[in-house]
Amino acid sequence: MNRFNGKVVLVTGAASGIGAACVQRLYDEGASVALADINPQLIDEVASRFTDTERVFGAALDVSSPEQTTAFVAAVQKKFGQLNGLINCAGIKGVGSVLDADIEDWKNVMAVNLDGTFLMCQAFARAVRDDQTSRAIVNISSGAGILGVPNRMPYVASKFGVSGITRTMGAELGPYGIRVNAIAPGMVRTPFTAYMFNDPEKAKRIRAAHAIGREGEPEEIAAVAAFLLTDDASFMTGAVVSVDGGQTACIASV
Ligand code: NAD
Repeated sequence: MNRFNGKVVLVTGAASGIGAACVQRLYDEGASVALADINPQLIDEVASRFTDTERVFGAALDVSSPEQTTAFVAAVQKKFGQLNGLINCAGIKGVGSVLDADIEDWKNVMAVNLDGTFLMCQAFARAVRDDQTSRAIVNISSGAGILGVPNRMPYVASKFGVSGITRTMGAELGPYGIRVNAIAPGMVRTPFTAYMFNDPEKAKRIRAAHAIGREGEPEEIAAVAAFLLTDDASFMTGAVVSVDGGQTACIASV
């Protein structure tokens, strides 16, 4: 498929896991891809995998910085002359319960996961709102943006925030032709979750928590993200789509 020929898509958190899988998928389907990540070495490493260097632009960026997000979107627009899509994957963990979560950790998680998603969406929307052509944004939320998860208080708060601003931006940006949707992944094997899979008992419990009996692969999230950017999803906006092997499909019966 070459659904993204001539299109330009920005991906944050592009140096690892789901973000890197999105970059690969979009590149394979013909897109020019702008990669942003806070880790400059990893960005260079991921960018160097692609032979058509004209279609790949990598930049080190902290998504929680209004200055850096605005500058990045402007730099991509200048380089490629257009912007068609944005996938926000940058994210960090946030552990702790209401009793013991540390407020500085809370602020840090919110700054990256929620502020970062908001700032990238804002910079992108401001840059394209007068274009009068269809554009799309995909935010990576989480099952923790749909259901509560004990001892993950800051992360849950940030991901409910991502789900909420996605719905709100869907409503606000519809008139500008900008669709905004979120994906709520189940457990996906990436560097983010590797420590859990290193524990065989925990890995077993994770798999049992998914209706299809296994964790997801980053490519399975990237496939849906790519779909949401295309006109096949032209009637979708403000949606939070579970891509989770059935992890949030039901509550336990007693
Ligand atoms: P990952 O750790 O492999 O990748 C996250 C990337 O974000 C890293 O490359 C990291 O350097 C980058 N990043 C962190 N802080 C940043 C910042 N301030 N600015 C720019 N980049 C920054 O994780 P992943 O599993 O690929 O997760 C991607 C997204 O998916 C995250 O938002 C995560 O919350 C979400 N998610 C993951 C899972 C899962 O099971 N892996 C499940 C649900 C949701």
